Amino acid sequence: MTFEAFVLTRDDDRKEHLAWTSVDESDLMEGDVTVDVSHSTMNYKDGLALTGSSPVVRRWPMIPGIDFAGRVSESSHEGIAVGDAVVLNGWGVGETHLGGFGQRARVPGEWLVPLPEAFTPAQSMAIGTAGFTAALCVLALERAGVTRADGPILVTGATGGVGSVAVALLAAAGFEVLASTGKADETGYLKDLGASEIIDRAELSEPGRPMGKERWGGAVDSVGSHTLANVLAGTRYGGTVAACGLAQGMDLPGSVAPFILRGVTLAGVDSVMAPMPARLDAWARLARDLAPTALDAITDTRPLADAPALAEDILAGKVRGRVVLTVA
Ligand code: NDP
Repeated sequence: MTFEAFVLTRDDDRKEHLAWTSVDESDLMEGDVTVDVSHSTMNYKDGLALTGSSPVVRRWPMIPGIDFAGRVSESSHEGIAVGDAVVLNGWGVGETHLGGFGQRARVPGEWLVPLPEAFTPAQSMAIGTAGFTAALCVLALERAGVTRADGPILVTGATGGVGSVAVALLAAAGFEVLASTGKADETGYLKDLGASEIIDRAELSEPGRPMGKERWGGAVDSVGSHTLANVLAGTRYGGTVAACGLAQGMDLPGSVAPFILRGVTLAGVDSVMAPMPARLDAWARLARDLAPTALDAITDTRPLADAPALAEDILAGKVRGRVVLTVA
């Protein structure tokens, strides 16, 4: 039995090649659940993997794709039956374990989340790792005690996948949302998602002072580097910043001043190895607060064949919101 998939290979000169090709099912990796994949999505990390711009892939050959949704075709895992609709985010899929950019996937059942009733498989991939991470960030702020009374919440990289979902979730939870973006022409998009004010990202992306005016009670940052340093410097006394990304850079060129003089907390958020209870909480929050209209507004749907071009676009910051990939 074979299926079709994108496969990344590396030659003797360590040059990477991507091809749409037939894969033998017996080459799928260990796991007690096999899934007929119907949808996947393009995340920033998928862009890095497909273009080889960062060492995301650590097993060769690799089927990329860190997310997938589909129906179970075989299962020996207790509690998961043939026909069940399931979602997978992370766990090293598309990095060290064959991933979602193909018609079939095999994984350990404990990695799978049942598709929430609120969503279709396509909608679950409109959310994908980016949206799931946004929910983890919002829950991290709430867990740290951030409330509406603490003032507005800043979202950086606001038109990106993490940012768009974070804006929508925070607004739905009643927070006032400040959206930082480099795309001035997307003001209407961000206001429709629930942002009350737009900040030009140039205000945050250059080297800044160790501490500035207290402007926000908390933040969701998917940008890192100078932006994260400036976000920390502008956080009000006792506030929390959930940091999950590096769209500007992996460095953090700031000072400890916000931590030791304003009691600011930096909460790190990782989605890949997030434990199952955190995953279920995040998906429950998405099901509760992500209105279908908001999801539609952030979603573009494309065939999986478009993945190589989309990989370039997402790294160039040209993708707005989320892209669902249909796997025929
Ligand atoms: P997107 O590309 O969809 O969004 C990133 C956004 O950041 C862009 O849309 C843009 O928003 C902004 N941006 C891009 N380049 C720069 C730059 N040089 N300086 C400042 N802002 C910039 O990516 P995702 O939302 O999917 O992911 C965002 C980040 O979060 C990535 O670094 C990704 O690796 C990380 N991530 C981490 C996860 C984790 O588990 N920790 C999980 C998911 C993602 P705008 O134009 O509005 O300013």
